[in-house]
Amino acid sequence: MKQIRMKTIAILGSTGSIGTQALDICRRHPDRYRVTALTARGSKEKLFEQVREFRPEMAGLTEGFDPAEIPSDLQFCRFLSGKEALHAAAAEVEADMVLVSIVGIAGLQGVMDALQAGRQVLLANKEALVTGGHLVTDLARKAGKPLLPVDSEHSAIFQCLQAGGGNKPEKLLLTASGGPFRTWTKERIEKATPAEALKHPNWNMGAKITVDSASMFNKGLEIMEARWLFDMPEERIEVVVHPQSIVHSAVVFRDGAVLAQLGEPDMRVPIGYAMAYPERIETGVQAPDLFALGSLTFEKPDEDKFPALRLARACLRAGGAACTVFNGANEAAVAAFLRNEIPFGEIARRVEKAVEKLAGMPANCIEDIWEADRRARVIQSEE
Ligand code: MG
Repeated sequence: MKQIRMKTIAILGSTGSIGTQALDICRRHPDRYRVTALTARGSKEKLFEQVREFRPEMAGLTEGFDPAEIPSDLQFCRFLSGKEALHAAAAEVEADMVLVSIVGIAGLQGVMDALQAGRQVLLANKEALVTGGHLVTDLARKAGKPLLPVDSEHSAIFQCLQAGGGNKPEKLLLTASGGPFRTWTKERIEKATPAEALKHPNWNMGAKITVDSASMFNKGLEIMEARWLFDMPEERIEVVVHPQSIVHSAVVFRDGAVLAQLGEPDMRVPIGYAMAYPERIETGVQAPDLFALGSLTFEKPDEDKFPALRLARACLRAGGAACTVFNGANEAAVAAFLRNEIPFGEIARRVEKAVEKLAGMPANCIEDIWEADRRARVIQSEE
């Protein structure tokens, strides 16, 4: 029998949707994975439960907590707060792999810390590449540790490239479900409510990313992500609307062949692929029943109804901090939308305005990026 080497894993963002599914894979494969660090933003009770089950050396809450709150049976674990917690989990605690599944620009520092410490990064955080793509890919190259994508579309492309045997792709086909508003009119989308935007047809995800799927800002961010992960110019990354979410993305080669990856819309497949790469392990997910599906359909995205795609491409062409501004302004505008302060259609208008005003800002270092992000969040709400 083949000897399985035990790998240690640190999870940044362990109580979120990706983090809990990664822990589900750890639970299925106790002979393969040992969890050494877990961090969460504020979900204290859930984190304590995870510490009790997986017994990491370290755990952290970035929002911080009172040491007196730590249950007495968890004293074996070192608890940290704030930025110190993220840094320790990313770069200090022993870990072969660091899964970065925190949401938002905080992921950038975590990814950079992990790469600088020579760790293999499993990337579920889009913002790190969207805002600091050049810094992150540079570090990964220097560390000789290519990033392993967890985002389902990018995992699909990565898997197709493995199957492509080193041949350079001509084009990447990034699939998109089209979200809940795919068939709505522009006027109806304009006035959509948070409850309507949070009803995703196929995927069960966090609130921010679900709203981003409805507006297709998520796909805009994913074009940016793909540009850096696969070193591909935006004009060779095509978005294909595929409402069934079975084809997770595809790659076009020079000879006219297209390789695609298919599977149920279940994040445990891309998470498991990144965790076991280059092996494939049991994830608890069944292959799709093609007979039950019957047909798969594909359509062109409507950039008039979903301006995010056009905006994302313009930001990539502009360079500098434009993509950071796109991301920061969108995050703040989505939060305002979820608080019922602005209509759905206002999200894209606010982002466009912020990009127009701040596109010239530099992004030479992480401090530049933070500053562009900060200003984008402020300026998006100004008249
Ligand atoms: Mg995705």
